[in-house]
Amino acid sequence: MFVDTHTHLDFDIYDEDREKVIQRAIENQVIAIITIGTDVETSKQAILLAEKYASIFASVGIHPSDCANVKNKDFQFIRELASHEKVVAIGEVGLDYYHMHAEKEIQHSAFKNQIQIARELNLPLIIHNRDSHQDMLKVLKEENVKDIGGVMHSFTGDIDFLEKIISMNMHVSFTGNITFKKSTSDDLVKKAPVENLLLETDSPFMTPVPLRGKRNEPAFIVHTAKRIAELKEIDLELLGRITTENAKNLFKIDI
Ligand SMILES: [Zn+2]
Repeated sequence: MFVDTHTHLDFDIYDEDREKVIQRAIENQVIAIITIGTDVETSKQAILLAEKYASIFASVGIHPSDCANVKNKDFQFIRELASHEKVVAIGEVGLDYYHMHAEKEIQHSAFKNQIQIARELNLPLIIHNRDSHQDMLKVLKEENVKDIGGVMHSFTGDIDFLEKIISMNMHVSFTGNITFKKSTSDDLVKKAPVENLLLETDSPFMTPVPLRGKRNEPAFIVHTAKRIAELKEIDLELLGRITTENAKNLFKIDI
């Protein structure tokens, strides 16, 4: 059994067959799904989906690439949405210096504002980090996220960065790109402690081999899980069980 801790089920790309996508996830042992908001509107959509399906939970937040024109009232909305009973995390939030859709300063203040919300509401963080490793470490330290907890989703970086993230009591998750032939993440996967590991698809993106080229969906999580189990030399079932326990504990989900 698996928990897909990161998907965007509200995206238009699922409009034609969302019901079937969710059904396929259930048939493929995905016992819980966290669907992620990236701004106020998509956070509301995530909650609507979570209200409709028992095994779907929501995360609400403003993505670093969606914060260029963010207003104070938007953080207020996120705070209100976050008190919904099926909201299990704040995210995705963080820093993105690759796309740079918003100035660094704005990204930092949006990130810090939302770390504050997570702290106040006692919710873990789902963090997006792209080409911003040093600043990320700085913010996480300054904001003392060690006692909030969370996950560095779609983990990238080197072993040193991984160790620092782990030492802050954070979880990490890898997407389908670790199944690609040219993946450079093998050592990271091997070194990430299983007790800090979560599974995710990041669907509709990052479709794993052998389905690469197709739209990704939660049911495909098994392919990424298989590769992780292989690299860590543990049984797939055991990996599923451990990462499911990790997700249940971190997000306090009852499944
Ligand atoms: Zn995402």
